[in-house]
Amino acid sequence: MDHSSFQKNILRSDALHQYILETSVYPREHELLKGLREKTNKEHKMALMSVPPEEGQLMCVLLKLMNAKKTIEIGVFTGYSLLATALALPKDGKITAIDIDRSAYEVGLPFIKEAGVEHKINFIESPALPVLDKLLEEVKEDELFDFAFVDADKTNYGEYHERLVKLVKVGGMIAYDNTLWLGTVAVPEDPSHDPIVKEGRSALVKLNKFLAADPRIEASLVSIGDGLTICRRRY
Ligand code: SAM
Ligand code: CA
Repeated sequence: MDHSSFQKNILRSDALHQYILETSVYPREHELLKGLREKTNKEHKMALMSVPPEEGQLMCVLLKLMNAKKTIEIGVFTGYSLLATALALPKDGKITAIDIDRSAYEVGLPFIKEAGVEHKINFIESPALPVLDKLLEEVKEDELFDFAFVDADKTNYGEYHERLVKLVKVGGMIAYDNTLWLGTVAVPEDPSHDPIVKEGRSALVKLNKFLAADPRIEASLVSIGDGLTICRRRY
């Protein structure tokens, strides 16, 4: 069964989305990213959760533009965004990757190994908050992260933000995924929505307002995928 057919993008024209994929994304997508994406779509009923390839491509360009070497990812799933990151980092790059569920990561692991980038990844199976708190206690000023990607439980994004603005270096980037939450952030709460959609909507409406007013960062909510808010730490 193909689980990739859900709407993973905010563009309201499927033809335009397809045009972007076919013209600009698929021709440049690494063969192992493609393999991981296809395996996830075929075998995982939650394939909708993967970062879509156009967003993986944007992350790759941003990581290379900023010469990122040390990154952190919260919410790995089968590893599409993780592999995209690992491929974009230099040979001695390091990624701390956190997820409460290792079994999904293992679906993508053969592709990560084949790409020769497993050595860059430190996978931690744990809820993210205690890991961030421990990092905050231990980390030294010259060990801060260049980049953080957040794609886990939406209700904790605010908590993650408070920690990441300290764990990412000044001038570094924090990116929050799904900040448009299937477009629901722009419409009144709908009682017919399922509880997960409602909970996420309310958390993201609050986060989007907070990020827009947070003086510690510059931020741009980019309408790619399901919405990606890119922040730069100012001080
Ligand atoms: N970035 C991934 C990709 O490109 O495939 C998709 C991540 S998926 C949307 C969200 C992930 O967050 C799931 O794998 C889930 O297990 C994980 N997660 C949920 N709550 C978490 C928590 N409190 N701490 C760490 N990971 C969590
Ligand atoms: Ca996501």
